[in-house]
Amino acid sequence: VGEPAGADPGGPGPLDLLILGSGVAGLSAAVRAARAQVRVGVLTKAELSQSATRWAQGGVAAALGGDEDSADLHLADTLRAGAGLCDQEAVRVLVGEGPARVEELIALGAQFDRHPGGGLARAREGGHSAARVLHAGGAATGAEIERALVEAARQTAAVLLEGWFALDLVVEAGRCAGVEALDPAGRPRLVRADNVLLATGGAGQMYSVTTNPPEATGDGVAMALRAGVPVADLEFVQFHPTALHHPAMPRPLLSEALRGHGAVIRDAAGRRFVDELSPRDQVSRAMAARMAEQGAEHLWLDATGLEDLDARFPTIARSVREVGLEPTRDWLPIAPAAHYVAGGVLTDLDGASGLPRLWAAGEVACTGVHGANRLASNSLLEGMVFGARVVEAIERGQRCWRPTGAARALLEGGGEAVPVRVLAPAPAGPPPCPGGADPAAERDRLQRAMTAGAGVLRSADSLASAGRVARSVGGRSRGERRPERELANLALVCQALVRSAEERAETRGSHTRLDWPQARPELRLRLVHRTTMGG
Ligand SMILES: Cc1cc2nc3c(=O)[nH]c(=O)nc-3n(C[C@H](O)[C@H](O)[C@H](O)COP(=O)(O)OP(=O)(O)OC[C@H]3O[C@@H](n4cnc5c(N)ncnc54)[C@H](O)[C@@H]3O)c2cc1C
Repeated sequence: VGEPAGADPGGPGPLDLLILGSGVAGLSAAVRAARAQVRVGVLTKAELSQSATRWAQGGVAAALGGDEDSADLHLADTLRAGAGLCDQEAVRVLVGEGPARVEELIALGAQFDRHPGGGLARAREGGHSAARVLHAGGAATGAEIERALVEAARQTAAVLLEGWFALDLVVEAGRCAGVEALDPAGRPRLVRADNVLLATGGAGQMYSVTTNPPEATGDGVAMALRAGVPVADLEFVQFHPTALHHPAMPRPLLSEALRGHGAVIRDAAGRRFVDELSPRDQVSRAMAARMAEQGAEHLWLDATGLEDLDARFPTIARSVREVGLEPTRDWLPIAPAAHYVAGGVLTDLDGASGLPRLWAAGEVACTGVHGANRLASNSLLEGMVFGARVVEAIERGQRCWRPTGAARALLEGGGEAVPVRVLAPAPAGPPPCPGGADPAAERDRLQRAMTAGAGVLRSADSLASAGRVARSVGGRSRGERRPERELANLALVCQALVRSAEERAETRGSHTRLDWPQARPELRLRLVHRTTMGG
């Protein structure tokens, strides 16, 4: 483990499984692997506890049974949100196995909120037809899940590589055999393993306003694209309408519940213009249109009229005050923020990707459970369920993907599978720029172009200009240090996203085309990249 690139690692022999990333997906797999006697290593680019997972607020959806809920209802709600593109098999696995994974997490020590009588408290969120969202510490669910998993992984993983940055997959004889990485001192190293699990999370950093932490730079998807591993559904990015517009990263979320209790949205001139209780995507769209009209960088959430703000929303009130705003007196600056990428590395029902011995789970993956839009609180659940399935499949001796779940249509079609269209390679970007450019300035340029051209509202023209900037930034981001490599990854994922969004000439789920405002039945298909992109 961890020898200079190109050298024989020697040492204690290769790991059975190397997990890239330490969020809910990676650590659920790590904990399961230890139980299964699979020799596991976790490599992650910051501290173990650093991930989008620990910022998750609302909770985790699981139909634990009871009078009004069932796995079938959860399935129906998820399919409805996904606007025709969910893989039904995958959703059945998610809702069927989710409750058992949640019970295991509780057995591991995760403390979910309970009623005075001892039963688990369950909230009802938008799009759910029953109260099935478990939460911890009010709105600190992710932090509690991450705490429990980090504690367990520290005791069980054979190797923990914190502060290591995975650069690229090592492909030998047609299979994944490990990764190239930078160690904490920035030296190139090789980490070999029999299997590699991508659990690198999302790519919210493509946009200037995001709820995601700074690590969410789409590294896993970029590695897959460079290796020619199929990637799908990238055009579907969910935007949260009411993130605080403030340099604080990640952006504090001003949850729907505030609007439910009477907070109102005002435009740059102080006027109300949208039904604040509409679904997330409708509110985001109305806000983005108004911001474009008014040339505004943000709008306002007026919560000054709310009674008992501190008693009802202590976490939100605290996080707003931490950035110097007084919610009982000030209107709060808000803008739609990139929140969740539904697409990613295409997998079968066991998390196997198109490259033998490469697996993907969590936000980096496209299992097909979200389709064109994610149902709130289904992503933590997805990480737990599919992270565990990867380990079970490795234990059973599975090596390659099989025609199940979202992979079925690409491998054999038929059944309930959503059909696929494989995209032609993107045009090559400009030649590399000699001398390199300042990665921070280039990241800013990319984020602004993506927000303006490939954000909440898109059109052929706006996508073309975002694509031009993404190719140009990609061409200028050469260099071997982490900031340059992250920029190159972001630029590559942006190019692929724009390519998919151009091809999807319709409005569906979280993808809104101003020039194609309706869904088109002939586009009820999954758009897949499978050629090496970006050279
Ligand atoms: C503010 C916020 C609130 C949310 N609320 C909810 C909610 O209430 N319910 C819900 O279900 N979902 C919620 N989500 C979404 C959910 O948190 C994420 O989708 C989920 O946690 C992703 O888990 P993951 O394990 O796939 O990735 P992450 O938790 O993002 O972990 C990715 C890991 O990969 C590491 N990594 C990335 N690139 C590399 C690299 N090149 N080399 C090494 N390591 C790397 C990162 O450091 C990190 O450890 C929320 C998200 C945010 C940001």
